[in-house]
Amino acid sequence: MAYTYDDTNVFARILRGEIPNKTVIETEHTLAFHDINPQAPVHVLVIPKGRYVNFDDFAANASEAEIVDFMRTAARVCRIMGVSPDAAGAGYRTISNAGANGVQEVPHYHVHILGGRPLGRMLQ
Ligand code: 5GP
Repeated sequence: MAYTYDDTNVFARILRGEIPNKTVIETEHTLAFHDINPQAPVHVLVIPKGRYVNFDDFAANASEAEIVDFMRTAARVCRIMGVSPDAAGAGYRTISNAGANGVQEVPHYHVHILGGRPLGRMLQ
């Protein structure tokens, strides 16, 4: 599936430096920054620097280097924010919304990392 990327989306603007962000980590291929409207004490967004609309687009079209960097950067965010599951009382949830039913607001692929409080069960 070919997706049309909208260069005016807010994360594209963050990547171009047009909108400030509170960066957690920046690597060659990935940027992680605090969500502007946090839903938990830890709420970080991890985005690839490449122009990918959603998970489907990223998985199909990103290079292996981009995908590996993305995954490892997300895990580093969890460690930096103190929510890796090996720390006492820690743990987190990753969420990636896609498309209309997923209610994806920003059309640039991203993963939310939420933690810092009990998150409850999402799936029954
Ligand atoms: P989505 O619904 O697309 O999965 O989530 C988009 C997320 O981006 C939301 O949690 C929203 O709070 C966050 N967001 C929207 N605009 C900005 C912004 O300008 N800066 C930051 N840091 N986060 C934003």
